[in-house]
Amino acid sequence: MISSEFVSRRKLVTADLARRRLDLLLVSKLVNIRYLTGFTGSNALLLQSPDGAVLYTDGRYRVQAAEETECTVKVVQGSLIPRVAKSLPRGRLGFEAAHLTFDAYRTLKAHLPSKVAAMPVEGLVEEHRMVKSEAEIETMRRSAALAWNAFEQTLQHVRPGIRELDLAAELDYRMRRLGAESPAFETIVASGVRSALPHASPTAKALGNGEILLIDMGAFLEGYASDMTRTIFLGAARPKAKRLYRAVLEAQRAALEAVREGTAAKSVDRAARRVLRTAGLERAFVHSTGHGLGLEIHESPRVARKVGIQLKAGMAITVEPGVYLQGFGGIRIEDTIVVNRGGCEILTPASKELIEL
Ligand code: ZN
Ligand code: ZN
Repeated sequence: MISSEFVSRRKLVTADLARRRLDLLLVSKLVNIRYLTGFTGSNALLLQSPDGAVLYTDGRYRVQAAEETECTVKVVQGSLIPRVAKSLPRGRLGFEAAHLTFDAYRTLKAHLPSKVAAMPVEGLVEEHRMVKSEAEIETMRRSAALAWNAFEQTLQHVRPGIRELDLAAELDYRMRRLGAESPAFETIVASGVRSALPHASPTAKALGNGEILLIDMGAFLEGYASDMTRTIFLGAARPKAKRLYRAVLEAQRAALEAVREGTAAKSVDRAARRVLRTAGLERAFVHSTGHGLGLEIHESPRVARKVGIQLKAGMAITVEPGVYLQGFGGIRIEDTIVVNRGGCEILTPASKELIEL
């Protein structure tokens, strides 16, 4: 990411401070610090004011911080909060209510100069993170392509007898070989009746002939997540499984078609749900249709029933309807997409035709 990108992000956040009648913002969530500065270390605080940004970290990150960010860096011995608190000018300080522990808050209060008021702030940086820049979208495109490549390479080795755990390890290994920093979340490999668990962890169970195989995976590449699910069949799919697959695929298509700038996130969810209701499967669809993603695998906006947010061009979300029948199995189909004016760009480069291995 080029440094002008960080400068413009910090400008937008600073403009928000004035709107919220704050003088300063203490950013404690590391991924938000990364978003605003480029710094990727594991211990930092960022103090953002109209005069500029100051990054506080410890001695382990002296060199890294200087390389990664053009902000002023202060290297602190011991805990960061008392040091930041001491340096505060008078005024209203916003802190990230969802990302400051109670302990940290207590320390902050104990060290605040008397003319500083600490005010909780919700979702300020996260709101900006929802809409991706062209550079971020390009990174996510590559992240999605990388995960798909790993999936395709691994598919050639899938056969009955392989354990879910080994398949998950193979997918993770391929992603890393292709340049990922790590998987974006614990890779899900669920076979047979276990595919009815929407968030199954892979086990020592071996894949069986005729079974459903659900794989949900994604990569972190240069900080950015991708997320995809494909459900395939080991051998010929049973008629009931084929029927479920077609219904989920149709629900996913309907949801994708509903996506465009200005549409409410909940109407995308509704589009998927309507198809599954017609197929008599509404109650088997036990989660929401999708979620935002970017520097985190789950971020705003949620694509769910009661979400009032309107989609904007540049938002990156997943579309992932699924049906889960206990004792039978589950089907989910998921793509990572980016909203644009007339619709969306699907970043997952993969075919969704029914695959029988
Ligand atoms: Zn997923
Ligand atoms: Zn997802």
